[in-house]
Amino acid sequence: MTSDHASIEAVPCLANIIPRDSHPISRSKISPDALRVLYRLREAGFEAYLVGGCVRDLTLGLEPKDFDVATNALPEQVRRLFRNCRLVGRRFRLAHVFFGREIIEVATFRASGAPPQDEEVVLEEGTDELAGDEAVSDDAGIDDAGNDEVAVEDSRDVHDFDESVDRVVDQSGRILRDNIYGTIDDDVWRRDFTCNALYYNIADFSVWDYANGFEDIKAKRLRLIGDPETRYREDPVRMLRAARFEGKLDFSIEPATAEPILRLRELLAGVPPARLFDETLKLFLTGHGAASYRVLLDRGLLDVLLPNVAAFARRHPGSAPQRMLVQGLINMDERVRADRPVTPSFLFALLMYGPIGLEIEKRPRSEWHEISTILEAVDSVVREIYGRVAIHRRFILGVRDMFALQPRLEAPRGRRALRTLEHPRFRAAFDLLQLRAQFGMADQALVEWWARMQAANPQQRVTMREALSRESTGANSGPGGGGLRRVGRRRGRDRGGRGRGGPASG
Ligand code: ATP
Ligand code: MG
Repeated sequence: MTSDHASIEAVPCLANIIPRDSHPISRSKISPDALRVLYRLREAGFEAYLVGGCVRDLTLGLEPKDFDVATNALPEQVRRLFRNCRLVGRRFRLAHVFFGREIIEVATFRASGAPPQDEEVVLEEGTDELAGDEAVSDDAGIDDAGNDEVAVEDSRDVHDFDESVDRVVDQSGRILRDNIYGTIDDDVWRRDFTCNALYYNIADFSVWDYANGFEDIKAKRLRLIGDPETRYREDPVRMLRAARFEGKLDFSIEPATAEPILRLRELLAGVPPARLFDETLKLFLTGHGAASYRVLLDRGLLDVLLPNVAAFARRHPGSAPQRMLVQGLINMDERVRADRPVTPSFLFALLMYGPIGLEIEKRPRSEWHEISTILEAVDSVVREIYGRVAIHRRFILGVRDMFALQPRLEAPRGRRALRTLEHPRFRAAFDLLQLRAQFGMADQALVEWWARMQAANPQQRVTMREALSRESTGANSGPGGGGLRRVGRRRGRDRGGRGRGGPASG
């Protein structure tokens, strides 16, 4: 495409055009902000389409997570049309149009997936770049010591390329930069799955389907556009996306799209950890985490994304921490569906629970409930994960707090019990205690005591605390009648059995 936009009539049409009366997408289901963007582009003489997951989800009768727009307007032209607009990503330039908390992502048609032409393509080695539409995490990283914050402004811009080059791939075939613009006919070939390659045209409300996506959606079939191996090599994250859509949409991955995953999964190790963190949250915190977990495990992808989590799952199937993880994910999915908040800290605490238990078990039993033991175990497991998935520091701190609070919850004492209640992470830690108790890894009586404590008024709380002090003057008897020790004995009995958890569990 030249610097000026092509006229709508000039676009040669290879698509199957589905008229408004033959598809179910109604404007009443489209975000008003997305409609505003589409209309504004159209009024300015550009083509404007909704594209990607929102068209797929609307076709399925689901509520889209976000709305993406594709246009023939260049990023600069988009920016001039909207005051509330920011261009992001030098390597994959996009416009973000802001409406309060909603961001409408506007991408100019790309020509990258189209059959090769005479464009300049450069091979790069070992760079840190991404392909696809993904917004990139710009949060803090962690330094080599694994504990300090380092600001990274935008991981797309960490490495510098020659600005004059529009397209860069590395030696494994991964697309590192893609700013070759094209027409809608070109754009479709760089989309990942056929179901994600439908374009809803604001000009006449028709849906443009180049890749038989409409039929695939109806058949609940996930199919990559083009040669699957090439497409995974271009962007290994597509393997995780396949798993995500399989879990979320309950689609079946057609054989040619599924086959290369086991062979190529190790390519994920070359993806920037900040991007894998974003992808992990999308997998687990958008209402289908339990399904994602099952698919990731079945397809061998968890072994690359979170190796220590997968190793625990494979060595301890059916163990209490495993069952707790699955239940915890189900609970989180329910919360998401009920529009209640979920936190990455809780997610990672669940995922890491088994491995943390194993770390703790390496120490003498007498040290299992010491805070230093627990925190060192958490840190060691986080370090292993961090090479693949760059968990933001504030969430790591959340996980540490949740685990460090467990012994305090299990042995409430005097005034400290009241202070524990005020801890900002009390609620998350209590939820974890409750789950542990559900799977025999903590005392149910403690859970009930803390539940009563939370419901009590300040005066009642003091009374409860005093009663506790009197009870515990003699023996090591908390509200659970000996909390930790009792849990410890139970765990002892479980040794070697199905219910065996790590001591982090107790
Ligand atoms: P979600 O329901 O999670 O929003 P989505 O399909 O919309 O799913 P997005 O990450 O929002 O996913 O991306 C929007 C669209 O951009 C996709 O539907 C797809 O067409 C394209 N896309 C995104 N990431 C990639 C990728 N890695 N490779 C190819 N195309 C991609
Ligand atoms: Mg989307």
